[in-house]
Amino acid sequence: MGEGVTDAGRPGIAVRDRPEGRLFVIGIDGLAPFIIDTMIEQGELPVFGRLQAEGCYGPLRTISPTNSSLLWTTIATGRHHRDHGVDHFRYYRLFGRRYSHFDLRKGPWVTKRLLRTARMLGFLRTTLFDNRHVREMPFWEVASHAGLRAGVVNWWHTWPAPPTDGFVVSDRLLYWRNLGDRDSSRLRSRLTYPEKLAQELRPLRCRPEDLTIGDLQRYVRLPEKELRRFTEAEYRANSLRGELHFFVAADRSCERFLDHSLDTYDDADLVAAYFRSPDLAQHCAFQHSAWAQERHSTPEEREQFGNVVVETYRDMDLMLGRLMERMGPEDGLIVVSDHGFTFVDERRGYCHRYGEPPGVIFAWGPQFREGAPIEAADVYDVAPTVVRLLGLPASQQFEGHCLEQVLAPRFIEEHPARVPVPGYGPRRPIRSGIRTPPGIEKEILEHLRGLGYLK
Ligand SMILES: [Zn+2]
Repeated sequence: MGEGVTDAGRPGIAVRDRPEGRLFVIGIDGLAPFIIDTMIEQGELPVFGRLQAEGCYGPLRTISPTNSSLLWTTIATGRHHRDHGVDHFRYYRLFGRRYSHFDLRKGPWVTKRLLRTARMLGFLRTTLFDNRHVREMPFWEVASHAGLRAGVVNWWHTWPAPPTDGFVVSDRLLYWRNLGDRDSSRLRSRLTYPEKLAQELRPLRCRPEDLTIGDLQRYVRLPEKELRRFTEAEYRANSLRGELHFFVAADRSCERFLDHSLDTYDDADLVAAYFRSPDLAQHCAFQHSAWAQERHSTPEEREQFGNVVVETYRDMDLMLGRLMERMGPEDGLIVVSDHGFTFVDERRGYCHRYGEPPGVIFAWGPQFREGAPIEAADVYDVAPTVVRLLGLPASQQFEGHCLEQVLAPRFIEEHPARVPVPGYGPRRPIRSGIRTPPGIEKEILEHLRGLGYLK
């Protein structure tokens, strides 16, 4: 195998003054500032309202292409996609050469023609990006190499889970339903680190079929009989009927995974976790929400499905509230979304793929200023801010900067910034040779297709 856990205290980045308290970084896909603002104003998001009033809050500029796979890897590494290597959901191989999604869509005419023909004939090999393709260290790995304890739950491209001093609950754990309940041998596929964590988490997951009619009535207003059909529907991406119970269950599972990990690793210095339901709800039902134009939905549809989006925002509010109850007086929290949502035009409808709709960022805890707006922050600034809060030096290779504007004067005084290092050094290679089980690969592709990312 040849993999050590981590070289704790890698020269140059080793932690010198260990930060007080833990730092939580919660990623929530697709939170839009205009929805957050209205809902806070209406008193519908008490926890986000508290984060804003007691901490720092502002929009987070995003980058094009606003592709979640690329963006969450950028947020975690603070690097451009040409450096971290994840420029889309997947890449292609033809006759031993590697091609990106952009070669297929926007490359020279000859290349596009060649790739499309090859795809039609079935010669084009498709590979989904995973942890082995991420060339730069995500911030939890930097922390771990510096001698801190770090854990991550469900972040993009954390599978296969590499050995670490803390824990990794990989993003493939949520596709568990396709692994089959009886086939436990397949679970030995780096879904978590340590591997035994997967066995502990397994009984905790919320399966789509575990949701009750009452659970779903919060999101959609339909007679019980019709709702029952929702719960019995097979997974079908980008259709509310085929997806609602899957994404609601997924984020519930995720919270339980996070909870269990926090119980188990209560000495972690940094914990990052990723939730996704607001983005999926917006893809399925934004046109029925109060922020959509009336002509894009019938009054009946608005009545039935108008709450889907706001309810997922409320879910996130409740989830954060429960997490904050677990936090000690020294702990800090950053909440970040990778992009918002927008109306593009009649043909393309509502999405986030065009026009770079901004996401949001919140920072709360004794490390941060109180009631301060965050200005001119972008997705590249998250990783530099996280390492600064952990008392680690920035990398000169970062695209962005630490958001000094959010730091409390006392924190800056007690923890002066360290001299940046030229880089964090190479990532340890992750043992290759584990294949994505075919059922999972099929489901991920279907899922991405549903979001309109893949054809
Ligand atoms: Zn996203």
